[in-house]
Amino acid sequence: MTTHHPLQLYIGGCRGSRSVTDDPKRAEFGAGTSAYALIFGDPKNGGRIINQDFGTGAHRLEQMLRANFGGSPAMQQRMVLFSHFHHDHYDASALTQWGVMFDPAVAKTFLGAMSAPAQRALLQMAASHPGGPDLQSHYRNLHFGEIVPGDSILGVSNDQGLGIGSINTIPLPHPGGAVGYRYDAGETEMHLSDRLGESSVVVLIDLAMQYAGEITLIPAQLVEFARDASVLVVDAPYLDAELASGSPKKHFGHFTMEQALRLALLANVDHLVITHHDPDANDEELHRRQAYIQSVERDFGLTISFAKPGAMIAAVPTLEQSATKRTTRAVTVDVQRAGHDILLAQALEKIRPEFERAQQLLDGSLGGVVQKNLPLLELVAGWAAADGIKISRHPYQHEGKRFMAPVLGDLQQYMAIRDEDPMHGEQHRLSDSIAAEACIRSRRDLGRAA
Ligand SMILES: [Zn+2]
Ligand SMILES: [Zn+2]
Repeated sequence: MTTHHPLQLYIGGCRGSRSVTDDPKRAEFGAGTSAYALIFGDPKNGGRIINQDFGTGAHRLEQMLRANFGGSPAMQQRMVLFSHFHHDHYDASALTQWGVMFDPAVAKTFLGAMSAPAQRALLQMAASHPGGPDLQSHYRNLHFGEIVPGDSILGVSNDQGLGIGSINTIPLPHPGGAVGYRYDAGETEMHLSDRLGESSVVVLIDLAMQYAGEITLIPAQLVEFARDASVLVVDAPYLDAELASGSPKKHFGHFTMEQALRLALLANVDHLVITHHDPDANDEELHRRQAYIQSVERDFGLTISFAKPGAMIAAVPTLEQSATKRTTRAVTVDVQRAGHDILLAQALEKIRPEFERAQQLLDGSLGGVVQKNLPLLELVAGWAAADGIKISRHPYQHEGKRFMAPVLGDLQQYMAIRDEDPMHGEQHRLSDSIAAEACIRSRRDLGRAA
């Protein structure tokens, strides 16, 4: 860990889909569309500023950045990452009138899931109104690069060239596609397990749930991508109730707040930030929704807030604290409310062959097979507990460490019951909260065993 600065998230605009009228009823959550910045280290002392998305909130964001970091070298090296090129994330007037565009001393690098020539052409198109600026003759020091979501990993270095962070990408389900970004402070190329307790911000805008009938699917890759983030920012303008079958909103390409919450719990993040606010909702309505979704905090010890323009959120790693907080809170078991995520079924399938192999080793040391799968075993044990089936524990040693693995025979039997039970879909649906809590528990236990 080379940096002592937690990542900071600046919010200039958080309205979704389109900007809204600047009336007093919408002043708090703002009129401007998507504009965020991530601050790595201290920009006045070698740190970096990365903008994400350039909606109409970008001017407010620029004011915030100038007030805090004006005159610093970081303000001369600007980088803008795009989640996608919908107009609420790529605003023609905000971009083409960004003051630094005309300043040859300021390097501007634009990255998104589009080829560099296509991005250049898009910007030229945005600028090409009568008398508008021309990329060749008016704008200087522009650079474009392509992101391949899922593959691209960017290193963030300070002015000495030392790695101070990394940015990972993931493709997001959204009409036309979008890129999710994970910003991690600290040395680059860290493995997931090393990230625990690090300062990290994951920004997932825009993204939709994939629907299979009325069952919602939270992709397992998304959970892994957001795993243990200090802050998770999610495009979630709606409530589940608004997306009842037949609602056209279901196909607009956005998460509901409940879906965002489930993702946050499954990924064990510390602070969920709901953003991309519904343009039809005024401040009063957004407060109502915020109060509703925050009521869950009591159960899970998760911080939930709504993005607001002008806000700065420090991604202080609080895993230690939140783990303690979570152990002291009773988990609400609400099987009726269950959204039966396919993620869980996928996890089950994934470990089945490993399970069978491990079963053969049961009499001796369970070894690495179980150790590797302990979080998943715990997950299945969590399901069993939710279904009222008691699973015993088997202590075993692996590489000098002591683990309490759920007894495999019990779990296998449980899985068989689940598979064969015709009522499975009705009676054995378990609450996501249980699954999420199982994940949290298993991580805590792993930490303790180590
Ligand atoms: Zn959008
Ligand atoms: Zn979009």
